[in-house]
Amino acid sequence: MRPLSRAARIIMVGAPGAGKGTQAARLLKAFPSLKALSSGDLLRDNVARSTEIGQRAATYMSSGSLVPDTLMSRLILASLPPAEQSYILDGFPRTRPQAESLTEAGVDVNFVVNLDVPHSVILDRIANRWVHPGSGRVYNLTYSPPKVEGIDDITGEKLVRRVDDDPDTFKVRLEKYEEKTGPLLDLYKEKGVVWTVSGKTSDEITPKLLEEVARRFG
Ligand code: AMP
Repeated sequence: MRPLSRAARIIMVGAPGAGKGTQAARLLKAFPSLKALSSGDLLRDNVARSTEIGQRAATYMSSGSLVPDTLMSRLILASLPPAEQSYILDGFPRTRPQAESLTEAGVDVNFVVNLDVPHSVILDRIANRWVHPGSGRVYNLTYSPPKVEGIDDITGEKLVRRVDDDPDTFKVRLEKYEEKTGPLLDLYKEKGVVWTVSGKTSDEITPKLLEEVARRFG
């Protein structure tokens, strides 16, 4: 539980399944003044509520494609915390135009965490991923199984697979990531705010990440 001495505007970048959501959740726990906004969760919530954006995004999401930049930027910019708030964006921006839309909106990103996890590890992780749709809680049958198979520990409700975790769809998501994220990182590298952290497990990455955030913003 540590305070931050200056506002952090953090972006989590990493292949799908690299553990962006897990690391974001751990940062929130360690630094309670941080808020988090996950583009995937925001989209899934809009799909579940069948909003106009949700209906338009659903087809892209279920095929593993990226939701178009203008739609995505509109959704995120409308949901951003106020400027004085420290926050983490998990899953946005994913493309260079999305990053540019943030800059145009006056958001000064000051820390980009690039999660570098081997693809073999990611594929294994996804094959074993189960989620609780109500809360977004993620379980992994190998690393963090639920107490009772197929059941959420807290609510006792059923766990499900994400439709886009299907292996073929997932391969498309990994390819899209490689194609789009290089140019995105280049933009932030020019600004000198990218920090790359490598590791095979989330537990290996977390202590390094907490230390780096404390060093930069503590
Ligand atoms: P995630 O939970 O971050 O893996 O996102 C799930 C899906 O939501 C992705 O496969 C995309 O279809 C869509 N999505 C999430 N974030 C973005 C984004 N920044 N730009 C475009 N599509 C996104």
